[in-house]
Amino acid sequence: MSVAPAVTTVAACFSCANTALLPELPPRELVALDEHWRVAHAVGAGLLGWLVLVPRRHVTTIAELADEEAAALGGWQVRLSRALTEVTGCAKTYLAQFSEAPGFSHLHFHLVPRPADLDPQLRGPGIFALLGNPAHPVPEAEEMDGIARQLSACLRGDL
Ligand SMILES: [Zn+2]
Repeated sequence: MSVAPAVTTVAACFSCANTALLPELPPRELVALDEHWRVAHAVGAGLLGWLVLVPRRHVTTIAELADEEAAALGGWQVRLSRALTEVTGCAKTYLAQFSEAPGFSHLHFHLVPRPADLDPQLRGPGIFALLGNPAHPVPEAEEMDGIARQLSACLRGDL
């Protein structure tokens, strides 16, 4: 007997579930928003300011993005990198996209503020050792909300 492959539905999707709660989301889930994209603080990341950029539509690959979503993507990546640099003082930002973790297949781009003094072993792809790692505790919700508010203000030009 063959088993049908698991299908990730929108209802089971973490990103879609949060997008459905707009506009009641806490600051950490609503750093920025436009008609195509939402920016949130990453879940389970042991680094304050680690962001994810997610399309408001449920898509699981870059190839599924509509032209309008694609047109806005580059601007968000650069604006968020500038805001992270200004707010966190990071040396540079990393950008990565996999969307492979169970329950997180909704397309999302990681935007990671790489601190100047980061352990060299955590630089480059090693940064993902900070995700879901008890040795690198996740910031408190209040801390994530605080930096989210700062980043939102920076993106609005209020800082
Ligand atoms: Zn989704």
